[in-house]
Formats: sequence, C-alpha cells, structure tokens
Amino acid sequence: MKIAEVRVILTCPTRNYLFVKIVADNGLYGVGEGTLSGSELAVATAAQHAAELLIGQDPLKTEDLWQLIYNWSYWRGGPVFMAALGAIDTALWDLKGKAANMPVYQLLGGKSRDGVLTYGHAGGSSPEQVADSVRSFQERGYRVIRAQMGPYGGSGNVRSDPSPRPGVPGASYFEPAPYLAEVPKLFEHLRKELGGEVELLHDVHEQLTPIQAAWLAKQLEPYRLFFLEDALPPEHYESFRVVRAASTTPLAIGEIFTSKWDCIRLFQEQLIDYIRIKPIHVGGITEARKIMTLAEPAQIRSAFHGAADIGPVGQAASLHLQTAIHNFGVQEWIDFNAPGHEKLRDLIGEPCAWRDGYAYPHEKPGLGMDIDENEAAKYPYKRAYMPIVRRSDGTMHRY
Ligand code: MG
Repeated sequence: MKIAEVRVILTCPTRNYLFVKIVADNGLYGVGEGTLSGSELAVATAAQHAAELLIGQDPLKTEDLWQLIYNWSYWRGGPVFMAALGAIDTALWDLKGKAANMPVYQLLGGKSRDGVLTYGHAGGSSPEQVADSVRSFQERGYRVIRAQMGPYGGSGNVRSDPSPRPGVPGASYFEPAPYLAEVPKLFEHLRKELGGEVELLHDVHEQLTPIQAAWLAKQLEPYRLFFLEDALPPEHYESFRVVRAASTTPLAIGEIFTSKWDCIRLFQEQLIDYIRIKPIHVGGITEARKIMTLAEPAQIRSAFHGAADIGPVGQAASLHLQTAIHNFGVQEWIDFNAPGHEKLRDLIGEPCAWRDGYAYPHEKPGLGMDIDENEAAKYPYKRAYMPIVRRSDGTMHRY
C-alpha cells in the first residue's frame, strides 16, 4: 500500500475547520484534522506543502512519517506546523485502523475505561445565573462543569469595542482587580447553592500575574475545584512554582502547547495536575501518546482541550487516545450532536456519542469519522481571528 493522494479541505459550515484526507493506491483513505482557530489558512498551506513528501510512502509507517514531516523542514515545531502534522498524523492513524479493521483505540492498547468523562461550559452574568446554568448541565448528566461569569475575561472585562469590519474582532478590555474580587464570591455562591459534591472548574484564560494567580488559587481552596485552568501564560513555567507553593488547588494547562518539550519541565517538577494538550495541535496521536506516557510517572492526567474550534475528527482522535491511556482525567466537551451543528454533521457524518456525562469513540474501523468533500465545498473559508484583549489603558494584555 502506498500513499497516492493528500487532499487538504478547508471549510466553514459553522466556523472554519481544516481536514486532511490521505488516499492510498488501493482506495483506502484516512481523514484527519488540523483546525487551528484564526490560523487555518497558514496550516492549510503547510499541510499542502508537506503532502508532496508523503506521496509513494507506506501509510502504515506512522512513526517514521511523523519523524519525516517533523524533521524535514529544519524549521520544525510551532503551532502552525504542528497542526499541519497533526492533521496528517491523525489521518494516517484513521487509515491504519481501517487497514487493521479495528477502532484506533484498539491499536493504542485497547479500552482502559468504558467511557470518557467530560465537562461542559456553564456561564451567566451573575452568580445566580451561573448556578442555574450549572444545574442545567447537571440535569443533562454532566458530572464535571466549568463555571465562568460574564463575557470572555469574566468580571475583569470592563468594556468592549465593536467589530471595526466584518470578521475582525473588536478589543475587549480586562482588569484583574474586579476579576479577582468576583471569582471567589462566585464559587462561594455555587458551593452554597449546589453543595460540595459537583465537580467545578474555572478557566483564568492566562490573565493573571504569578502572585495574582497564587492569591486566587489560595482563595478558591475552600471551594475544592476540580482544577483551575490556564492560571498563567504557560511560557513562564517557573511561575507555576509560585502558584503550587501557595495552594492545593489542582492546576491544568497546556491547550497552546505543541510538543513534548513544552510539557516536560512542568512534568518533571509535578507543577500541574492535568495536561490540556490534544492530538491535533501537537503533531497528532503519535506525539500526544508520547506526552501522556511522559506524564504518567508524574501522576499527571489528561484534560484534553475540546472547545468548539476543535472539530469532530479532532474530538474523535482525543477520545480514542483517552479511551486507551491509563492516566486519563477529563475531556472538555462540545456536543456536535446538539442543535446548531447540522451543517457540520452533513459533511462529517455522525459525531462521537455522548450519554450521561461520558463520551464514546465510534466502534467502526479507524477514527470512525468521514468527510463529504462536495458538502465541504459548499462552505468556503471565512476570515476569522482569536479575541483581542487589552488593559483598560489600551496596553495589549498578557505578560
Ligand atoms: Mg483555557
């Protein structure tokens, strides 16, 4: 079997998604995903450029082809390049599963659990509204729930500019003082209303300094969070020592990490409890599996990133891997079976199933997903950006 064709498919049924289809000379094919929100055009170009190296290769050599695509460029690594490699690698694993007539999780060690625990996103503009939203998630069966108050940036979002042109975001303006004042009050209210049993977590979106993050983690200790997410910008791994020393609130980070080298120092010092990588942004299942093996002796569990900009194929790759690994924690969950994703389902088929708080990879060979290229062609790419955050005096935010 040899790789005959690599097709890069960029489509916008609801938002932009980037898929790769790798076709072998015997007609077998694999579908992968490399959606990188706001940078889809760059990833598409990188994947297209790498594609030529794959033609004529044995598609079952997933490790060697990973090393070829990773090392060929010399300018290796980085989010764009690793998402392109993620799309190629997940497509190759899909193809390998189809060749073996097995779901991918079987090739990764088989089932370590019956279902993959998930968490959903509750929100509202007051503690009362957030409590109602958490209850609605509990009623649907969620056991772990993220609680955020207000728009992106929470109560720290002091104002927002409107979009200057279609597709271009206006800035929002963040201040830490109101945010730090409101978050402990929110969780005090949630515990009072909802009791101590429900698992709650919170995402800081990297908006604090080390001392502010340490203070917040300490204030939240009485409310027993499942984890505090993205408390700091992850580039400053030393800062995690400050937060760690101050509190026993569990920490999660890693959704913008792209390789094992980003993770290893945090693992060695056990500075976090959950790692938020996912296959499609770290060069695929091949690298994500290695990262989770490195995390195992540090007793760090997976909490794979799964916002709406990780599409159903990337989600399936995350579920197959987290069904097989031992050190699984939780999966962030967007339900593509819910209303609003009809166009996406028309082009990708049936998303992975979700019941009573747990998600399940398909039992079909490979990742169990497909793509209808004619459907995808109906929805051309639309220019999009990630949010712009400034301080109230206009300074670009983050440290
Ligand atoms: Mg986050």
